[in-house]
Amino acid sequence: MRINPKKSFHKEVTAMYENWEQLKADCMQCRKCSLCETRTNLVFGVGNENAEVLFVGEGPGQNEDLQGEPFVGRGGKLLDKFLEAVDLDRKKNIYIANMVKCRPPQNRDPLPEEQDKCIQWLREQTKLLQPKIIVCLGRISAQRLISKDFKVTQQHGQFIEKGGILFMGTFHPAALLRNPNQKPDALEDFLALREKIKEICTHTY
Ligand code: URA
Repeated sequence: MRINPKKSFHKEVTAMYENWEQLKADCMQCRKCSLCETRTNLVFGVGNENAEVLFVGEGPGQNEDLQGEPFVGRGGKLLDKFLEAVDLDRKKNIYIANMVKCRPPQNRDPLPEEQDKCIQWLREQTKLLQPKIIVCLGRISAQRLISKDFKVTQQHGQFIEKGGILFMGTFHPAALLRNPNQKPDALEDFLALREKIKEICTHTY
């Protein structure tokens, strides 16, 4: 059931949701921006709805658009390896979502106005999840959720507290496929994440 319609940050009327089923049902119908016209599937998110750690990517690519699940292409396989290295698993103890839920044509960056429309869904997901830690995968989510001028190569792995949630930005898996020399740095970030989880989370491990 939807409760308490509220004026949001972006001056749009949004609903607050009591449960994932209603949120997902509404989100799946979304036609707030033109990306809905070219999508095969909307990619809502995947994982444990009681997770303490939320990963946020950029937006669906071709494989994700076809399968309706985030990070299922080559980048996704690499992400799963990094997750496995620190005992995290998309089916068990984390949640994964994207800044935009529908594939931008030719995998271009999501436009600011597309992100503005779509971020409402991520906010609702975050309110239901109440994560302790949000990991931003790549520049698009880090610049939107951490700081406008976030530089992944310089600031990756740092934990920044905002509104009671710890944020950390790290490399996007697609960037790691292009620049494998950054994989050791990315692994360091995941190891630091594991330590932070042990410190502040209660039921991830
Ligand atoms: N890249 C992303 O940022 N998200 C996905 O779901 C897939 C590729």
